[in-house]
Amino acid sequence: MKISDILSRDKCSVSFEVFPPRRDAPMEPVLEAVKALAEETPSFISVTYGAGGGGNTNTVALAEHVQKTCGVPALAHLTCLTSSRERIATEIQSLRKAGIENILCLRGDAPAVDGGKRDFAHAADLVRSLRPSAFCLGGACYPECHPECEHLQSDIEHLKAKVDAGLDFLTTQMFFDNNVYFRYLARLRSAGITIPVIAGIMPVTNGSQISRICRLSGTVLPPRFRAIVDRFGDDPCAMLSAGVAYATEQIVDLFADGVKAVHVYTMNKPEVARRIMANLKGIVNG
Ligand code: FAD
Repeated sequence: MKISDILSRDKCSVSFEVFPPRRDAPMEPVLEAVKALAEETPSFISVTYGAGGGGNTNTVALAEHVQKTCGVPALAHLTCLTSSRERIATEIQSLRKAGIENILCLRGDAPAVDGGKRDFAHAADLVRSLRPSAFCLGGACYPECHPECEHLQSDIEHLKAKVDAGLDFLTTQMFFDNNVYFRYLARLRSAGITIPVIAGIMPVTNGSQISRICRLSGTVLPPRFRAIVDRFGDDPCAMLSAGVAYATEQIVDLFADGVKAVHVYTMNKPEVARRIMANLKGIVNG
């Protein structure tokens, strides 16, 4: 099923994200985690590409598992910066063969050593090359500005070009203050970006990593959330409860304010998904 069709339905959508195992790690624990995540009946599950050292070929295999074994629509991430046109064509062929209908078109991060000439400089180039196909195409966006871009206004202008290249929907980087999302959405709409913007929510369950992640991604930790991390960050059980509670509150507030779709960065953690979905009983799938 295409994500554009899911987003056009008149009901709240909650989707999850998983990442494939590293190339040398066993697939089995991830398949188990995905099976447990699928039992929470998300609208779709996205599978990252190359992030965190995961092998690229595993993305297609895991997306196929999501769809064929677990019966949940899959969104396969695909990065382009370090890929040739031939490599992208091969990936697309594998995705098609696996029955995947949705692709998140990404640039990816630049490697430490620059490899010279590139076939794709920006995600928009990938979107342009895939648009003639029948895939449903998504892209990433950044409510607090992409870290490499100096001003949010220029980032939004680049985003507009990416959307005009043929995107069907956007998913945001994580944010911890819903007002950031609402202000950003208003700016996108006034820039003429009219496609759905799925809100990306990260349930923080590891207090020690979040400050570094926020620094790298340019995401602001609001004082109320920082207090939670300071107080509970060293206690995994307390941090899990507090992180799930904070994420749930964000999601309920977004749905109450008319947002139709939330993407939860579940990171292969079924327990987190289970607790959030239990909190959303009657609001989602109700
Ligand atoms: P782009 O849209 O190309 O933008 C990158 C930068 O280039 C921005 O600063 C933009 O303003 C600028 N730019 C764009 N066009 C132009 C132009 N014409 N001229 C000048 N500047 C321009 N990474 C992975 O490796 N694997 C994943 O699976 C993955 N999944 C992600 C999922 C989501 C929802 C998000 C938000 C990010 C994900 N990432 C992933 C991280 C992503 O690859 C990085 O954030 C990367 O740095 C930017 O990718 P992009 O597709 O947003 O790039």
